[in-house]
Amino acid sequence: MAKSVTLVEVGLRDGLQNEKTPVSPETRIEFARRLAAAGIKRMEAGAFVRADRIPQMAGSMQVVQGVLELQKNKRIPKDVEFSVLVPNEKGMLEAIASGAKEVALFAACSESFSLKNINCTIDESFERFAPVMKLAKKHKIRVRGYLSTCFGCPFEGEVPEARVVQIAKRMAALGVYEVSIGDTIGVADPGQVEKLFKKLLKHIPAKKLAGHFHDTRGQALANILTTWRLGVRVFDTSLGGLGGCPYAPGATGNVATEDVVYMFKGMGIHTGFDLDQLIALNPWVAEKVAHTLPSSVGKAGRLKPLGKVSKEDVK
Ligand code: MG
Repeated sequence: MAKSVTLVEVGLRDGLQNEKTPVSPETRIEFARRLAAAGIKRMEAGAFVRADRIPQMAGSMQVVQGVLELQKNKRIPKDVEFSVLVPNEKGMLEAIASGAKEVALFAACSESFSLKNINCTIDESFERFAPVMKLAKKHKIRVRGYLSTCFGCPFEGEVPEARVVQIAKRMAALGVYEVSIGDTIGVADPGQVEKLFKKLLKHIPAKKLAGHFHDTRGQALANILTTWRLGVRVFDTSLGGLGGCPYAPGATGNVATEDVVYMFKGMGIHTGFDLDQLIALNPWVAEKVAHTLPSSVGKAGRLKPLGKVSKEDVK
């Protein structure tokens, strides 16, 4: 497989929806523009969910229309792809009205998480997907699938691998172009990741899989590298590590885009991103969400030599 990697920036959705401070649609549009300027080619723009349940995503219609308008005016490159999360047919109808060309569906791998997070069983969530897929086909909208709690559930603990494989196959069979395997609470380690992905790869080709890792326990980069070595080339990341998980209090959330870009660039793998621009974006986003962001590279930046030391200097 070619030595490249594609990152899906989820800061605008998965990131911001877990932030306490709501960010205005205008700022979210500007965030998308800045991400695109730093070379991001795929990103989530928002979610068509109930604003009373997830107020951070209110105004997603404005955000999607805003970014598409910027694209029309060539202020965002033509080849940048935006997606929106839709939980059901109602959300899908809003996505169609917004002009979105791609949507994302999500299902959990544990019944408790499904009930708690989206208020329905796993089977019921798949029932909701049928009309969404029908509309997607009719309107030529690409669909991506997310699976959450693939490595552990905050309510049930361990999640059996066979169940994850079965739900991933079910998701792929719906006709989604990619299934993103999520470590929602950041419990996975490279050993577990290798075992599960090897099983998944027996049923789903690498080009249809993506990894969605959280850095809650400091394992995200190791997990990404492990998955990449198995041939998977797409990973979800968020600028600065924006986000978190309401069930992992105080913990960091999505792996930071800058950290992942730093690693792959260091390995000589093509990313297409401008690391300096991503690092420069970090404090701008931190100001909008009113706290510093957990990203390691965002904090430390690149190596900046202080200057050679001579014998005279240390006398
Ligand atoms: Mg996430």
